[in-house]
Amino acid sequence: MTAASAVTVKKQHLIDPEICIRCNTCEESCPIDAITHDVNNYVVDDSICNDCMACVPPCPTGAIDNWIQVLSTNTYSVEEQFTWNELPEPQEVPEGVAQDMSEPVEVVPAEALSADEAALTNVANTPFTAAGASIPPWSAAHPYVNWYTHKNPVSATVVGNYRVTDSDTESDIHHIVLDFGDNPMPVLEGQSIAIFPPGNDANGRAHHARQYSIASPRDGERPGYNNLSITVKRVRAGHDSNPVDGVCSNYLCDLQKNDVVKVIGPFGSSFLMPNQPDANIVMICTGTGAAPMRAMTERCRRLTKENKFNGTLMLFFGARTERELPYFGPLMNLPKDFIDVNLALSRSADKPKKYVQDLIRERAHDVMNLLKDSKTCVYVCGLKGMEEGVLSALKDIVTESGRNWEDMHAELKAKGRLHFETY
Ligand code: NAP
Repeated sequence: MTAASAVTVKKQHLIDPEICIRCNTCEESCPIDAITHDVNNYVVDDSICNDCMACVPPCPTGAIDNWIQVLSTNTYSVEEQFTWNELPEPQEVPEGVAQDMSEPVEVVPAEALSADEAALTNVANTPFTAAGASIPPWSAAHPYVNWYTHKNPVSATVVGNYRVTDSDTESDIHHIVLDFGDNPMPVLEGQSIAIFPPGNDANGRAHHARQYSIASPRDGERPGYNNLSITVKRVRAGHDSNPVDGVCSNYLCDLQKNDVVKVIGPFGSSFLMPNQPDANIVMICTGTGAAPMRAMTERCRRLTKENKFNGTLMLFFGARTERELPYFGPLMNLPKDFIDVNLALSRSADKPKKYVQDLIRERAHDVMNLLKDSKTCVYVCGLKGMEEGVLSALKDIVTESGRNWEDMHAELKAKGRLHFETY
């Protein structure tokens, strides 16, 4: 065989740097560490990627979903991809080299298939370790995504910015309301937007956009207005507790009324609420992970007022103290027969330390009754660390009720009834 005849055409898995919002979801969901990043881009290592597709459904923007035609002798290295500002054009194929136009096939989580289907599609051996569903509940409204991208961001005007934690506490959390004027911004509860902080990073490149969950319902922070809200915590320390000022969080928390911000989005097509009037929603959150829960709760509150919602809402909300729990006052004012609120306080002077998973265990009977109901969807948002704790609590209460956790977990994921958004 000559060298020329050994050249083949393939589709290389690449991430579109113009759409990617650098949220790290793909890197976290890749089971074989084929995805990596530098300060500039998230990239796929062609020598490792096996096209298993585990990273594709969780990506909120679809930036991950690109397969570009390349010659097998001329694939793009990780180092090359780090320098890109946009995806390359498909490579030209010299005469005599056969075109292989086959696309990778999207892998359905094995648990969504019967044993026969799984055997047929050969996905039983595919690692798919996501804790939650990659599809929305069946009744969710259809979301718009990527309405505004890096190439065509939209401007929004700050119409409100106030603190929602007590002023003398360490947790400086702000509720920020953005008005989009005449520009459409169609969003659903559970979706997010991303905002560009002004200025450049240490390498002289414009800062990447930072992603925030929307904290208001689809019809606006103020019903009928073209506005939405986000919940932002001022970051003063990194994960290792070293002092570091968050570039975007400080910019946002300092915004004044009438300031203008640059926005892209909306993003997210699975962390969406059911649209049935009799759906039940179990919400589990910590800190600013409350944002999508506020959006869903407010949506249901507005629907209830019009007699269009009569499902059950149960909330598990973790914070250090009551005074550091965002939206504490408004949350406590909600009627008890509208929402079942369970506060897990970890640093309260007069209460034992509790995490949300402790309260889920304490309310095992009621949580289990809801889980058994096919109309119940569960949403978890907040600190990455809570994911394991919440899953373990759910596993324990399901097992103690005499059911098989693996089966129920698989069903919750396959039906779009269990969702995680943790950072
Ligand atoms: P935080 O104040 O640091 O923590 C909130 C509560 O969670 C505290 O009581 C904390 O207890 C507790 N906690 C710590 N580890 C836990 C674990 N393993 N399991 C259960 N509870 C645990 O929270 P935060 O700073 O607001 O962070 C919220 C997270 O949500 C961030 O990671 C953020 O990125 C993410 N998020 C934000 C948005 C948004 O739109 N703003 C959206 C999605 C997700 P301790 O006393 O032990 O600290």
